[in-house]
Amino acid sequence: MRYNKIRKMDISNGPGVRVSIFVQGCTFNCKNCFNPETHNFDGGEEFTEETINKVLKLCENEYIEGLSILGGEPMHPKNLQGTTLLAKKFKEKFPNKTLWAWTGYLFESYVKDKEIVNYLDVLVDGQYVDDLRNPLLKWKGSSNQRVIDIPKTLKEKEIVLFEK
Ligand code: SF4
Repeated sequence: MRYNKIRKMDISNGPGVRVSIFVQGCTFNCKNCFNPETHNFDGGEEFTEETINKVLKLCENEYIEGLSILGGEPMHPKNLQGTTLLAKKFKEKFPNKTLWAWTGYLFESYVKDKEIVNYLDVLVDGQYVDDLRNPLLKWKGSSNQRVIDIPKTLKEKEIVLFEK
């Protein structure tokens, strides 16, 4: 896997001040995607053990509420292994901090059976649909996307949306 960038302090992607990592590579090609530089799987930098350690170190700061994983497409088969490893290590080290991720895939048809669901607090799912764009929406770009509370969804066995 490769990644596009790491933000040390991100106040746009999830609640509070967060560390965020933008994974490299996406095949969805949504119209007017806000991150076209992340589409090429060969772009960005190599994601290594060192990258994981760097992200975890940044998350140690007390004011950091959690980690957000965006893209690109973190759940693409080429990226899922790296994303899952990062998610697992983050939750092992910071069980009281929150892990958010964004994906163009849908929870029911793809993400729900993947190991990563065991580590996620919130998943924002669904492709960005430009015709449904609404700049007032929190943590998502278009109204079709869902901000899903993953622990509650797994417990209830039906989609439970995250309530702020
Ligand atoms: S899934 Fe995300 S990164 Fe990929 S094309 Fe759509 S908006 Fe862009």
